[in-house]
Amino acid sequence: MTHILMELPYKTTDLIPFISRETIEYHYGKHHQSYINNLNTLIVWTEFENMSLEEIIKKSSGAIFNNSAQVWNHDFYWKSLSPQKKTLSDNFFKKIEENFGSFEVFKEKFSSLALSNFGSGWTWLVKKESWALEIVSTSNAGTIITTDDIPLLVIDIWEHAYYIDYRNVRAEYIKQFWNFVNWDFVEGNLGE
Ligand code: MN
Repeated sequence: MTHILMELPYKTTDLIPFISRETIEYHYGKHHQSYINNLNTLIVWTEFENMSLEEIIKKSSGAIFNNSAQVWNHDFYWKSLSPQKKTLSDNFFKKIEENFGSFEVFKEKFSSLALSNFGSGWTWLVKKESWALEIVSTSNAGTIITTDDIPLLVIDIWEHAYYIDYRNVRAEYIKQFWNFVNWDFVEGNLGE
């Protein structure tokens, strides 16, 4: 089974001023594409050849895990974003308040965890089995789908996600991120 790069749900210029066309062209067109290409090369003649992406992630390690998880994480990241201003439903807003005290506290907590996620990785909003919402970080290709948690939202904090537009200022990238979150997608992931 050949894995294919997902289509972006918007144009390469649609996320300006959060991220530039150049960032998307490199991040999606080169980095994300490379993980796909590497994965397709690595799985030839292996037990993973005919597995779905999620199965590969759950059963592999090493380079096959790294590349497959990075494909999945990037798919999820692009879907977490939208150029159209989305708002949270009352129900989801209330859920955030119940779990974090207020929407502002949630944003601060998520932002500060993303900022302090050392090196390369991802910061997520997840739903626990207990239905509680939690913010967690993973390192490198670390992903949520190897756990029992359900991922709702992710931010990519690898330097390649922001270096062209923000240089080393990850905090500013995180600040702008909030203006482009696809809350419809996030809420849809709740599965309620
Ligand atoms: Mn990335």
